[in-house]
Amino acid sequence: MSRILEKPRTVVSPEHCKGCGLCVMACPKDCLMQLATFNSKGYHPSSYKGEGCTGCGMCFYSCPEPAAITVYKKGAEYPDD
Ligand code: SF4
Ligand code: SF4
Repeated sequence: MSRILEKPRTVVSPEHCKGCGLCVMACPKDCLMQLATFNSKGYHPSSYKGEGCTGCGMCFYSCPEPAAITVYKKGAEYPDD
């Protein structure tokens, strides 16, 4: 199932994230955070706080890990769980 987003949002893949924190520092809206939990490789992955994303893409462009961050713009098709 999927739905059309009414506002932007960002999704971090916990298993692709290396926990470097660059995306957290890059976000001008302070809407990313690093989790206290570990992924399977022992990193603290970043995560979207759930509010405030403008879809600017700064986090995506700051991230050195391919496939770690996906930015969904308003009106994008979003894959529901
Ligand atoms: S797209 Fe922009 S506003 Fe949204 S989480 Fe990334 S840096 Fe922050
Ligand atoms: S920049 Fe990429 S690798 Fe670094 S914390 Fe953010 S999502 Fe993880």
